[in-house]
Amino acid sequence: KKNLIIFGTRPEAIKMAPLVKEFQKHSEDFETKVCVTAQHREMLDQVLDFFEIKPDFDLNLMKPGQNLYDLTATIIVSLKPILEEFNPDFVYVHGDTTTTMAASIAAFYSGAKVCHIEAGLRTYNKWSPFPEEINRQVAGRICDYHFAPTTRSKENLLKENIDEDTILVTGNTVIDALLQSVDKVNKEPSNFIKEINITLKNRELILVTGHRRENHGEGFERICGALKKIAEDNLERLIVYPVHLNPKVQEPVNRILKNLSNVLLIKPLAYQDFIWLMNRSKLIITDSGGVQEEAPSLGKPVLVLRDTTERPEAVDAGTVVLVGTNQELIVKETLDLLSDNERFDEMSRLHNPYGDGKACKKIIEFIKEL
Ligand code: UDP
Repeated sequence: KKNLIIFGTRPEAIKMAPLVKEFQKHSEDFETKVCVTAQHREMLDQVLDFFEIKPDFDLNLMKPGQNLYDLTATIIVSLKPILEEFNPDFVYVHGDTTTTMAASIAAFYSGAKVCHIEAGLRTYNKWSPFPEEINRQVAGRICDYHFAPTTRSKENLLKENIDEDTILVTGNTVIDALLQSVDKVNKEPSNFIKEINITLKNRELILVTGHRRENHGEGFERICGALKKIAEDNLERLIVYPVHLNPKVQEPVNRILKNLSNVLLIKPLAYQDFIWLMNRSKLIITDSGGVQEEAPSLGKPVLVLRDTTERPEAVDAGTVVLVGTNQELIVKETLDLLSDNERFDEMSRLHNPYGDGKACKKIIEFIKEL
């Protein structure tokens, strides 16, 4: 059988890498090719290097100031010759990006069976996260097989009348990636890790990431205002913020936070360095989806800069708190948590609602049986 695995952004690459690796071990049953749209370029390439994945097709679509209309159209049109020539039996898409949505449409046109990894996450709020919520609903409607990370995500699919036989609960492949990478990171620390260790010493570290489209503009003004107050509250505390490359993120972050002595604004980190920093941090403030899934299994409390989440499992377990983008609330929740040992210990409980690291093995067993 022929597989085509398509992805385009950093988080998709991290979560699809273990699937690519696992399929490569089954080359007697599957011919597996990888196609990247490169909706992100630099951040995607870091991940491909780390996991030693060489794409068979690279659409290299990223353009400065790219918009959703052009990106969607270009992905569909550019995939046509690849789908026609390789003629895969199965196409795999991941999650909720524009690549996911457009590639699932193209794969459907080609007649391939379309498989959705990380299926069934929902907020049921069309505008949050935008455009991800609609991207994943469209992909869910199109896909033939749905690999849901949790029973909650399976239940969402059942509510949408998706046939139960086409759904498999696997855990999230992000945990496969994390468990496969942690040892390697500790064994071979990079120069970045060696250097940042000198700045860090024993200081309290807060790790921050943020990029969501719906936080662009006023949201980021308030988030950065809050981070400034949290930094000024204790100069021994270090805030490390690998800043997403999107100019709508870069501009407010640099303007508001650049001159603070205990805020370190750095380029997006290689995946292995980011994992290392997550492990070293006291707590994480983020609007990222993937980080919400990784942190609980490292025992790190997370404050999420959003009002809703499609990942309620860790919120229910108490290791993740939604704080939105209200400046006062972000400051209050952060400082309260840092000064309340009992609450902090409760939130730092190791907790892993997103799987046992064997998601990819389960996916492949399922596909083999078809
Ligand atoms: N990540 C990374 N370098 C960074 C920040 C995050 O490799 O500087 C990783 C992180 O471990 C997680 C993923 O990128 O697996 C999350 O990506 P992002 O927040 O961009 O997207 P989302 O998960 O929100 O879709």
